[in-house]
This record gives sequence, structure tokens and C-alpha cells, in this order.
Amino acid sequence: MTHRSEYDGVIVGSGPNGLAAAIVLARAGLSVLVIEALEQIGGGTRSDELTLPGFTHDVCSAVHPMAAASPFFRTLPLHDHGLEWIYPQYALAHPFDDGSAAVLEHSIEKTCQSLGVDENSYKRLVGPLVAKWPILEQYVLGPIGFPRHPLVMAGFGIHAIQPARRLAKSSFKSEPARALFAGLAAHSLMPLESWGTSAVGLVLAALAHVGGWPIARGGSQRIADALATYLRSLGGEIVAGVRVRSLKELPPSKVVLCDLSPRGVLQIAGESFPVSNRRALERYRYGPGVFKVDWALRGPIPWTARQCAQAGTVHLGGTLSEIARSERDSCSNEHSEHPFVLLAQPSLIDPSRAPAGCHTAWAYCHVPSGSALDMTSFIEAQVERFAPGFRDLIFARSTKSPAQLEAENSNLVGGNITGGANSLLQLFLRPTSRLYETSIYGLFLCSASTPPGAGVHGMCGYHAATRALDILHLT
Ligand SMILES: Cc1cc2nc3c(=O)[nH]c(=O)nc-3n(C[C@H](O)[C@H](O)[C@H](O)COP(=O)(O)OP(=O)(O)OC[C@H]3O[C@@H](n4cnc5c(N)ncnc54)[C@H](O)[C@@H]3O)c2cc1C
Repeated sequence: MTHRSEYDGVIVGSGPNGLAAAIVLARAGLSVLVIEALEQIGGGTRSDELTLPGFTHDVCSAVHPMAAASPFFRTLPLHDHGLEWIYPQYALAHPFDDGSAAVLEHSIEKTCQSLGVDENSYKRLVGPLVAKWPILEQYVLGPIGFPRHPLVMAGFGIHAIQPARRLAKSSFKSEPARALFAGLAAHSLMPLESWGTSAVGLVLAALAHVGGWPIARGGSQRIADALATYLRSLGGEIVAGVRVRSLKELPPSKVVLCDLSPRGVLQIAGESFPVSNRRALERYRYGPGVFKVDWALRGPIPWTARQCAQAGTVHLGGTLSEIARSERDSCSNEHSEHPFVLLAQPSLIDPSRAPAGCHTAWAYCHVPSGSALDMTSFIEAQVERFAPGFRDLIFARSTKSPAQLEAENSNLVGGNITGGANSLLQLFLRPTSRLYETSIYGLFLCSASTPPGAGVHGMCGYHAATRALDILHLT
């Protein structure tokens, strides 16, 4: 039930970018309506009891370096609306077969010291990014534009543009540092031999030392809930449980912002697009998918490497070459039997996630787009490899294949969680050279398929809505 028959702005989708876009419009004094297909708002920031009553799992995102560093979120009173970040001792641990682990922690000095022979190499590579982060963030978390600080950008770009495998080998001498960097770069969901994959690794490393890799107390849903209650306090409205099937169903408005993939936009507005813009959106590429497992556990994961027991995130994939092989496989339509697994263990620092003494864990690996293969046993074998006895702790599990992820949220095309392939071109120009704008007057995209891309940061929504305000002279 809506309060008005028409609005200044309508937003389709209540992911972090949709809610961010709505807040920008509402703060500008406009009337705003957000329409969400699911009964539960939040898109990639939902939490739910996926396994057993009393166990809160993050349905999609769990760890929030991008949200903690988001220049837009910084301007919002999210803490007053119930959002609290909590930080593990180590942002990341990366265990090896000999029982040791490489770690990323808030202090760059301590991280460097833990890397032995690569102490100075890590300092040289990541230190300048941390020091210049206040300048860099506007480029890394914004749409491409002419840099006002070309030297700072060049210093970042010269490393960022390189294939991660090459940069890991040329920068570091030891396997732990190479593998640590490979795991970070693998968040790109691209083969580590691809140009531009170092950008993702460098940004995630720098963020560990800038704002940290926190989780939200109570679950990622608290991010969506805080954004939503703040939006409502500004007069914005949200309607959940209504799937938009055509632009024609929307109430009249001056601007429509779609928190959708290009495919989703074509589904609701395809017939209205001129052929050239439609073709450009159809050509957009999505990249591999993920297979996800959530566990309800009888106790903490019994890691061999002690650092893992104090880490929010654990990367399971061993060496640089093993991780690189796994990423190549998922990008070339193959399933790795030893997949690179990204695991988070929120209940270690947030007891509200599970009954007393019990724990939750969240993990996924990369698989070919739309894959139907059940990867549970391969993922659990990787955990068991670094934490013998893990399987005995499992009370219950919930799994989601790429098809199930897409069925819940059509933005996850083929199970892809990065809003589209992070090829060098699509890292900057996404989904087309028009970025947020479309050729339909008043229709904009604001999802992770626009710059700066995937992650919970709300910056796509912020930039899209700001551009809409400018172009349409709405204030
Ligand atoms: C398994 C998984 C793990 C992830 N882990 C992390 C992580 O740890 N950290 C991190 O920063 N990021 C992570 N991400 C990525 C992050 O969740 C996304 O980048 C982010 O949520 C994108 O936000 P968005 O607003 O663009 O879109 P979404 O969050 O996808 O929201 C889009 C919304 O639009 C709705 N919608 C779609 N079609 C329609 C329609 N026709 N009508 C109405 N509503 C519609 C959907 O239901 C959804 O609620 C993960 C994603 C997944 C899936």
C-alpha cells in the first residue's frame, strides 16, 4: 500500500545500491518509493535462519570492507539506526598445509612483519595505497573520470592494471605472500592471468589497513534495516513483495532508478529501448557463478593454524598456483576438485549469531556460470584439509547453487555475484559507456552493474542518483 499516487523518484530493488539511491533523492527533498520483489528487503544484505532456529546466516554478503570504507555510508547516521561494525583480530587468515598461516591485520606494520622476507615488498606495494587512500577512494569508489591527482592514480594504476599472478610473482619472493595476494585478487572472479585483477587484490589489502574488514553485529540484514529506517525517517516509502514486470506498472514519476542487472532492466523496459542501447545492454557479460554453503556448527572450527581461529575471513586454497588453477577452471567452464574457498566465521566475534557454544560459518567457491554441480563435498574437503575434525561439528547445512541464487535474486545472473564480469573494460565502463544513464529519458541504472561495481558500499546508488538529480534538474 503506497501513500501517494505519484512520486518524484521510483527505485526498483532494495539492495544496498537501491536504498542508497533512494536516500540521495529523499535527502534532496524528493518523494521516493522503493519497490522490492522479495518480502524481505536488502538484496545482497539479507540475513536469515537458513539452517536451524537460532542460527542467523548471511544469505549473501557477510564481510564488509567496502561498506566500512564507503564515503557515502560515512555521511549517514546508520549507527543511530542500529548498525554496529565489529572487527576480528585478523581481517584475513590464509592457512597452508604445513600448519602455518599468512594474515592480514589492521596494522600494516604487523602484517608486514608476519610476511618475513616479504616484509618490505608488502610495505612498498600496499603502504602507498594506505597512505593515499583519502585521495584514492574517490577514484576506486567512483565512476571513471579525469584524475585530479594523476600521480597518485598512476602509482596505483601501474600495479593495479597487471594480472594478479604476475604481480604476485614479481613483487614477492615467498609462497605465503604470493598466495595471500592471489586469494585477495581471486575476489575478482577472473582468471589471475587477466589484466586488471591486481586492482581488486590491492584494494582489499589496503582496506584491511584503512577501515578494516568488519561484520555487522546481528547480521548483514542490519545494514539494510539501518538504511531503510533512515530512508523512512526522511519520508521515503518501501513496498516489499512486489516484483516489477514492466515499467508500465510503476506509479508516475520524474525518474526511475533500477537496482537491476542489464538483463533485469531489459526484462522490464526492453521494448522501450532504441535498438542500439538494447544491443549494448544485451552484450554485457556476467562471468562465473558461486556455489554457497552455510553451516550450523556444534563448536568453533578446529583450525590447525591458530591465527585462523581469530580471523573473520579465511581463504582456503593453499598456494598461488593452486588458487590460480581453481580460478582458471571456473572461468573456463570447469569445476575444480580443489576449489579456492572463501569462508567467514561471524559467530566467533558475534555470539548473537548462534545459540550458546554453537557457531555459524559461511563459505562459497567459484563455479562456471549456471553450474548445477553440488560442490558441498569439495568445499567441505577444503575446510577439513586445514581444520581436521570440521565435518564432525556440522549440525545442519544450507546450500545454494548458482540457479538457486539467481532464482532468489535475478541480479545474480548465472550465480554471478559481481554484477557482471570484471574484465578490464567492464571494470570501468559498466554496463555501457553511458554508465548510469540509459537512452530512455528519466531511466537510470544504479546496481552493482554500474561503477564502482560489486560489494556493499552503496556508491553505485549514490553516483546514479546524484547524476539523475543533475541531469533532470530535480532540485
Ligand atoms: C553469495 C554472495 C556473497 C557475497 N559476499 C559479499 C561480501 O562478503 N561483501 C561484500 O561487500 N559483497 C558481497 N557480495 C556482493 C554484494 O552482495 C553485492 O555486490 C551487492 O549486494 C550489490 O548490491 P545491489 O544493490 O547492486 O544489488 P542487490 O543487492 O542484488 O539487490 C537487488 C535487489 O533488487 C531486487 N529485484 C530484482 N529484480 C526486481 C524486480 N523486477 N522488481 C523488484 N525488485 C527486484 C532483488 O530482489 C534485490 O533485493 C556477495 C554476494 C553474494 C550473492
